[in-house]
Amino acid sequence: MSDDLDDADLNRYARQLILKGMDEAGQQKILKSKLLIVGAGGLGAPLLLYLAAAGLGDITIIDGDQIEPSNLNRQICFSDGDSGKPKASTAAAMAQKLNPRISINAIDAWLNEKNAPSLIKKNTIIADASDRPEMRDLINRLCHKNGKVMVFGGASRLEGQIATFRSGLDADAPCFACLFPDLTATSQLPRCSETGILGAITGIIGTAMALEILKQCLLPATPFGENLTSKLLLYDGTDNFMRVIRINKNRTCAVCGIGI
Ligand SMILES: [Zn+2]
Repeated sequence: MSDDLDDADLNRYARQLILKGMDEAGQQKILKSKLLIVGAGGLGAPLLLYLAAAGLGDITIIDGDQIEPSNLNRQICFSDGDSGKPKASTAAAMAQKLNPRISINAIDAWLNEKNAPSLIKKNTIIADASDRPEMRDLINRLCHKNGKVMVFGGASRLEGQIATFRSGLDADAPCFACLFPDLTATSQLPRCSETGILGAITGIIGTAMALEILKQCLLPATPFGENLTSKLLLYDGTDNFMRVIRINKNRTCAVCGIGI
């Protein structure tokens, strides 16, 4: 099979192909990438749509939840009248309509200890858009063990965070548990069902996760600049504040520690 983009791809991706530093080889890397998105909610929706639009070639989205009217202020893959439908396959159908030239798989189930190992093994980048501490812990452990990239995102109220962990690929890199050492700490991250959330905030964080994933797909090339490996991006919509801080590796981390 030829590695050249056909005319339809050249037209579809024309505006990103002419960006400085991007070329057909870069687009091929994006097309050949394999991504697992955990969570088809407020973060998963913009993440899925922008990456489908950008041509990320093989996307699996997993979520065991059904659509409720209270989701519609932020979960932009869904429409009025979708209540009761499964989130993952409804979101996947919308993304597939946007870009029929890529492969999108939906799993209408929760990620768990049983299905996670094979799903994580067959993808290269895992996006945690789950909003669930136990799922984050599972994704982190398996990404570390299997040498996969974990792109984490979280949002509540008018705030959000993003970070990328490559501890399974680089012994000096931290994992998610280096940042939040135990499940008690991660469960202290507020959930939007308890604290409220504005859809524009999940839009900003989910879209920034999409950009970060494109940067990870293109490595070692860096046409889109600095990525968030071993860094935490913090965003606060109340004062338009955004900053990036470095995450240190915890040498005694229960997941990725290598001893003192
Ligand atoms: Zn760690």
